Order: sequence, then C-alpha cells, then structure tokens
Amino acid sequence: MSNRRTFAIISHPDAGKTTLTEKLLLQGGAIHLAGEVKARGAARRARSDWMKIEQQRGISVTSSVMTFERDGVTFNLLDTPGHEDFSEDTYRTLTAVDSAIMVIDAAKGIEPQTRKLFEVCRLRSVPIITFVNKVDREGRSVFETLDEVADALALDVCPMAWPIGMGGEFKGVLDFATNQISRPEGDSREFLGKREGAEDIPADIAEEIELAQAGYPAFDIEAYRNGDLTPVYFGSALKNFGVAELIEAIAKYAPPPRPQPSDAGVINPDGKEVTGFIFKVQANMDPMHRDRIAFMRLVSGTFKRGMKLTPSGSGKPIAIHSPILFFAQDREIADNAEPGDIIGIPNHGTLRVGDTLSETNKVRFTGLPNFAPEILRRVALKDPTKTKQLRKALDDLSEEGVIQVFYPEIGAQWIVGVVGQLQLEVLISRLEAEYKVEAVLEASPFDTARWLRGSDAALKAFADFNLSNLAKDRDGDPVFMARSSWDVGYQQEKNPELVFSATKER
Ligand code: GDP
Repeated sequence: MSNRRTFAIISHPDAGKTTLTEKLLLQGGAIHLAGEVKARGAARRARSDWMKIEQQRGISVTSSVMTFERDGVTFNLLDTPGHEDFSEDTYRTLTAVDSAIMVIDAAKGIEPQTRKLFEVCRLRSVPIITFVNKVDREGRSVFETLDEVADALALDVCPMAWPIGMGGEFKGVLDFATNQISRPEGDSREFLGKREGAEDIPADIAEEIELAQAGYPAFDIEAYRNGDLTPVYFGSALKNFGVAELIEAIAKYAPPPRPQPSDAGVINPDGKEVTGFIFKVQANMDPMHRDRIAFMRLVSGTFKRGMKLTPSGSGKPIAIHSPILFFAQDREIADNAEPGDIIGIPNHGTLRVGDTLSETNKVRFTGLPNFAPEILRRVALKDPTKTKQLRKALDDLSEEGVIQVFYPEIGAQWIVGVVGQLQLEVLISRLEAEYKVEAVLEASPFDTARWLRGSDAALKAFADFNLSNLAKDRDGDPVFMARSSWDVGYQQEKNPELVFSATKER
C-alpha cells in the first residue's frame, strides 16, 4: 500500500492552523525552528521568493505544498488560504487532497469558515479527522463541542481521546485505545513525551469518559473513509501537545491516494501510466523571473524527471526537465514522484488549471469546477495606455483562480468576478505590485454570470438578441452576464435548448 498521505487543514482564522502546520513540520523534521512558518522577520524573508510575495501581501494568498516524512510515511500537506473570504483556489486545493484535518478552537467550536470548507470536503467525500485545539485554555465542555460537530455537520463523531480538564485544570489527554495519559510537564506545560497509566483520573472526569464511551459510536475506519464519521483528537498546537498523536492518526487511518474519476472511468493509483491533473497555477512566484508554476497532483504511475507528458489543453507533449517537489524550506528538484505527490512544473503558460497530464493523452480527469462569481466589478484603468498589461494581468490572475475575468462582446469594459471581497483587494494590490497597473473597481451593470452551453445554432440565435449580455471568459467560452438572478431564470425559460451553468468544468 502507498505510504503517501496527501491532506489539507481546514479551519476558521485563528483556530491555530498555522501553529499546527508548524508543529507538524517540526515533528516531521522539515523545519527546525519554531515560528518559522509565520515568522515575519528577515529569516523568513530569505526562505524563498515565493514566501516573500506572500509576506509582502501580508496574507497568505497562495496554497503552498509542504512535504515531510515520519516513520516511513510521506505526508504532503497542502495549505489552504485561511482568511475569511476564500477563492476558487481553496476549492481547487481540496480537489487535490485525499483527506483533511479540521481544526477547531475548543472555546469556539464550529465557525463559519470551517463549515464552508467542510461543505466542500463533503461534496467530494473527503474524510475528516477533527483536532480540537487550545485545550490548554478554558474551553467549552467536551460534550458540547462533540455534539456541535455532530449536529452542525451531520457527521458521526468518535472521540479517540479525552482531555483531563481544560485551561488551568488541564492535566493531560487520555488515549482511549491505549488507556494511557499524555501529560504536559514543566512550567510551560510542554509535552515531554511522558505517558502513564490512567490511575488518577478525577472521579467527575472518569464519569464523563464512561458516558462518552457509551454515548458515541465506536471508531469505524470505513465510516471515516466514506466521510460519514470523524474521529476527534484533542490537543494544543501552541504547546505542541497531541500533535504526535494526530500524525499517528493520519498515518494509520487517513486514506492513501484515492482513485480519481475521469472520462475514461476511474483511474487507480497503481495504474502504470503516469497521469495527473493541474489544480493550481501560480504566476510570478519569483518576481525577477516572471515564472509560472503549475501544481500537478500525480494520480497514477511513477513520475521520473525528464519524462514527456501531454497536457490535455494544448495536446502537445512537453518534457518535464525541472519539476519541483515542495519541501517546507526549499524547493527541491524532484527525480521521482509517486501517486499522491504534488510536483511543480515551471512553464510559460502552456499548463492550465484543470488540465490532465498523461503519457498517452487519452485520459481526462473530471470534477475540477469553476464557480460562478458572487461579486462582479468593472475594472477601470487609471492610465488608459496600460490596456495590454491589464489584459495580461487579468488573464494570469484568472488562471490562478484569484479572479474570474469576462470580456463583454460589446464595449471595452472588462468585468472581474470573485466569490469573496478579499479577492478584490488582492487583485488591486497584485496588479500594482506585479504588473505596475493602477486600476480601480467600479460597480458592474451585471449581478451574476452563467456559462452557456448548447449547439452553435442555439448559441448564435441567443447572441442575436442578447449580445449586450454576452461575454467571453478567459478560455473564450460564452458567458451570459445577467442583471439579476431573475434574469437568469427568465432566459432559461425562454431558451430551453441552452444550459445556463453556475459552474464550468474544465
Ligand atoms: P490560524 O489563523 O488558524 O493560522 O491561527 P494561528 O496558528 O495563527 O493561531 C492564532 C492564535 O492562536 C495565535 O495567537 C496562536 O499563538 C494561538 N494559538 C494557536 N494554537 C494554540 C493553542 O493550542 N493554545 C493556545 N492557548 N493558543 C493557541
């Protein structure tokens, strides 16, 4: 069986994702100094150009890939942007993982962002391990937290351990499987790896534990892997407590690379042919070189450096001479990669999100959607001579999934669409920083967009009457720009031969 575990962490901002990421990497030996993941100082600046960009933007807008190893298992952690608003980038990252860790704050429970990300996981039946963080602080009752997860997410919950007190009273975590208590020690209450038997559990907590073991379903790996049950662990990322147990759980229970749906049927990871798909493209990772990295999730076969693969988009084989494997600190050149691994492929725009890469060019992976934007804005240039630069920037950024862009059939006012407000800020700052284009966003006459599908004749007939509501997306595909969702319904009814789609699969 594969020793790869490819996963993401989903959480609401401030629940502790960054801190946990750092501790996971520390335990995996990928980084050696606490604080490096979010460090703001000079040390971080030197890390990589890529992170430098994130730092300049002051927010992590990229989804990075971090690889670490422990006990013969290779973990690929795909970072999802943790801010309140999220973009397609986040959705797409979740298409490339086999499982997720859901981090929740012991005092706050399920928060809005957690729920949204959870819904995306559910759409794709991504199994979830729950980590209740910050048990070193005063939290809610454990029952309350477990019941909230069960109710809010309609999931069976299975506590795998139980915290002995919380906050000032916190004495450790009892592992149900081994009946051992992990205890924090010393003034900082750092976990020192000491585990003891469960003799001296206070009576009230012993009672809680008895209730819990009787009241919640037993762990069932099948139910977990189907996305119906979540095992729940407790700990403190900050105090590095419970993190080792979490890693063990991922190694033991999280699924190895999954088969992926394609138009040629399901492709299994043990297939011989090398196949993969691009789930993300990041332009300008290095501002000096204007490079562009496509992130490919390997689905089957053993990838070897120098190999020729054909992207479904262009249909022209490319030799991949300098693929990149992402370790926490450095980008390392990959020689071999296995299913579940992510490799970065430098390119000049030939690789697109949603592309399948394969040796024979006979497979197309499915299920990488674009989502109809919820916010539309018109882009106006401060300096009208910069039209060409703006077009290039909008094309690049839409390819990354930062925005979507629509070029109306009539008029020269380009429209951008986003699913969250923050993306608009990111757009403006990146236009300035990376493309030296100053632009402002204005109200758009349109409220929503739908991709159109239908016969050429039907599309043409529609265009004859609705040209002022038609645009092309970055791929040149037709989009209906609607003034309201009522408008969408109306046109749908009038044009039953056309499909008005809120998502587009590439
Ligand atoms: P993110 O926004 O989810 O990435 O959260 P961070 O990792 O940046 O953590 C948010 C805040 O919570 C920071 O001030 C952390 O130091 C703090 N924090 C994270 N984990 C813990 C924990 O286990 N216990 C306590 N007390 N604080 C924590």
